[in-house]
Amino acid sequence: MVDRIAEIWGTRTPYARDERWPVRVDQVLAEGVQESEIEGWVQSACVLCSNGCGLDIAVKDGAMVGVRGRATDIVNHGRLGPKGLFASWQGVESKDRLTVPLVRENGVLVESDWETAMERIVSRSKGLLDEKGPLSHGFYTSGQLFLEEYYAQAIVGKAGIGTPHMDGNTRLCTATAAAAMKESFGSDGQPGSYVDVDECDAMFLFGHNMAETQTVLWMRVLDRIAGPDKPRIVCVDPRDTDVARNAEVHLPVKPGTNLALMHGLVRELFMNGWIDQDYIDRHTMNANELRATVEPWTPEAVAETCGVEANDVRRAAEIFGTSDRVLSTVLQGFYQSSQATASSCAVNNMHLLRGLLGKPGCGILQMNGQPTAQNNRECGADGDLSGFRNWANPDHVQELADLWNVDASVIPHWAPPTHAMQIFRYVEQGSIEFLWVSATNPAVSLPELRRIRDILSADSLFLVVQDLYLTETAQYADVVLPAAAWGEKTGTFTNVNRTVHLSEKAVDPPGECRSDLDTFLDYSKRMGFTQLDGTPLLDWDGPEEAFTAWVECTRGRPCDYTGITYDKLRGGSGVPWPCNEEHPDGTVRLYRDGVFPTDPEYCESYGHDLLTGASVDPETYKAMNPGGRAIFKSAPYHSAHETPDEDYPFRFTTGRTVYHFHTRTKTARSPQLNDAAPDVWVEMSVKDSESYGLVEGDIVQVESRRGQITAPVRISDIRDGSIFAPFHYGYWEENGAPSSTFRAANELTITEWDPVSKQPVLKNAAVKVSKVADGTGSAPAPTTTASRPARTQPSKERGDTDSPEQRLDESIKENRGGRAKRVVLPTVGGAAAQASEVIAPVDPPAVATKEEHS
Ligand code: SF4
Repeated sequence: MVDRIAEIWGTRTPYARDERWPVRVDQVLAEGVQESEIEGWVQSACVLCSNGCGLDIAVKDGAMVGVRGRATDIVNHGRLGPKGLFASWQGVESKDRLTVPLVRENGVLVESDWETAMERIVSRSKGLLDEKGPLSHGFYTSGQLFLEEYYAQAIVGKAGIGTPHMDGNTRLCTATAAAAMKESFGSDGQPGSYVDVDECDAMFLFGHNMAETQTVLWMRVLDRIAGPDKPRIVCVDPRDTDVARNAEVHLPVKPGTNLALMHGLVRELFMNGWIDQDYIDRHTMNANELRATVEPWTPEAVAETCGVEANDVRRAAEIFGTSDRVLSTVLQGFYQSSQATASSCAVNNMHLLRGLLGKPGCGILQMNGQPTAQNNRECGADGDLSGFRNWANPDHVQELADLWNVDASVIPHWAPPTHAMQIFRYVEQGSIEFLWVSATNPAVSLPELRRIRDILSADSLFLVVQDLYLTETAQYADVVLPAAAWGEKTGTFTNVNRTVHLSEKAVDPPGECRSDLDTFLDYSKRMGFTQLDGTPLLDWDGPEEAFTAWVECTRGRPCDYTGITYDKLRGGSGVPWPCNEEHPDGTVRLYRDGVFPTDPEYCESYGHDLLTGASVDPETYKAMNPGGRAIFKSAPYHSAHETPDEDYPFRFTTGRTVYHFHTRTKTARSPQLNDAAPDVWVEMSVKDSESYGLVEGDIVQVESRRGQITAPVRISDIRDGSIFAPFHYGYWEENGAPSSTFRAANELTITEWDPVSKQPVLKNAAVKVSKVADGTGSAPAPTTTASRPARTQPSKERGDTDSPEQRLDESIKENRGGRAKRVVLPTVGGAAAQASEVIAPVDPPAVATKEEHS
């Protein structure tokens, strides 16, 4: 047994380049439950991050009592991380689950029934449609529903109501991934594969704290590092993450300066001739424009702007430029920062310059954050047209109209879909009066929360919230619908490297909870939405019929599911799309032939100017005639709109801890995870804390121009001049709203977004810090991750005489700096923190298409 709270990544199973990642099966059962008592194991996959690890749910007496990684799964080879082990099943079984609909009466939410709740929704919805038309309606969904649910919602919104105001919290996490791939390759669709971890010589992690956000993928990397031929790691992150600690080169850039760094790296590739001119000539366009854009960015210029060493820029570029096989991953450090799309496209540019795509070990993983974000983007619940179709291409709109048997004019395509930040602006301005929020919590996750609370509580707004618990957002609702959770319904979802899994219903939902699919189908029926022939718009009798309908929607598109059925997904492993007649076992990596979906008749987008966000019009794009070539896209660097000054001298950045997911809706209800990271903290460097006279645990106020939070300080190895706070913590324990003090990191963030992806800028704001009180102990920050105490923390306050490394180790052992300990945690009504690991003497799962694997 292993304490998987302290030992986040478990036991190493080293392997060499081009070997298959060994199997290790991780399992946890509720305390007191023996394996022999399990009545059934039900196939599923984890929905607590974008990794999508295959697992089976243990069922006993009609309840979920544990999980076990699936040894046969191509994603995780049996492994699970702390969130998968401890939150997936416990996170939905808390006593405070919503079990009946709630409606607002005299200003108070009271228990009701489905008939009453749906009647209120439909009555308001019909009234507004009659009076003010479809633009009165907005939908804000999630990255955590199932594919079938997104597709239903997309059809309801586009073909039923006809509103362009649809988006998801994927806008906060993956919008830039999609945008960067559309700009560079013509369509969304992950070029690389997790298999590339097995085969690469170097890995670049751009703003991606994989060690905490995709723990199982990081286990794969750690196992490569522990084996022969270990990959060289380069890390771009202002914090001292575990990725940074394993990196040969760590570039701790100032928040907000990513694009300057990327220009420097691209320039080094050009200047040193680390490019594949033949690949560039045959498969790309606009290389000369790219070269001109990056020309001013010498390593010294990068060093001055980004606060890194010029020689480190040279070293990183040399690793990229001289390694045979490079895998790059990108996440929120780029996506939620200034010039997000331009910075992320720069990663694509580096691979295109060297022709490092579509070959073993040469992947790009523009990562997702959430487990089903990919499906939201594919299905179009985020506003895009379903099946990666182009809203500006009338033929694509007509294809959907034919598929759904509706008039094409109903489907909104006269302008780009409305992104989340604009949807909330329209609510603020009063033109959206009906907002349906499903499985997300904007009252904690959106920037500038004081403003968001005002928007959600506006008298003009009729707010529907569909969730498992009475979240901070649900507290503002007019109607709250209780949703069935993962494990309580059947559906499919697709992880970040395009792998589709089936998640079967394991247990009945509590009380009157319904699946989101059933709720959307019910709404469509009650609203009387019909096809042209008068038959119901949606008449699916369950998730499998919804999936079958979706498969038809993908026929011939980049995300082709036509070779996938529920039966194909049962029993074995996940299947990576495209899966069709040509690729019956799925496709490990895209663009093996160097042909990209940029043809004007096929592409998902005609692209944008990356500096301003201006759309490229169809005629200009056609005249450019990419014809299957990838496009080098870039923009000049500009500094962040809000930078430190005399009044607000620090750069503020938000992020994650390994023990929580999003706003802790599930993870805070897992006792093991909640104990590991029970409350908010802020991080500050040793030098900055000394200049402010602060010691570990002192209570500080961090204030921006928009709000303030109060929290204990963790003196960490974050770069000087930067302040970090995890964004997970809100106010649901305080009935949804802040009482005496504020603790949500997004109180401080700014209402600003990337001009292309429209992803909010959550990772750079200017703040000031002041001491509120002496601390009474250490900050409640985990000591096992990037939030660990500084290696260089001065010892005089504690009288330490040992080395920084020894002090760090002692702080972990003694739980001096947080709750994550190297001892077994107390059990609070669930499984202990210990999980079993079986390093299985069986063959690892084969990749989907053997010939694609070297
Ligand atoms: S890595 Fe992600 S998908 Fe896998 S077990 Fe952990 S939280 Fe779940």
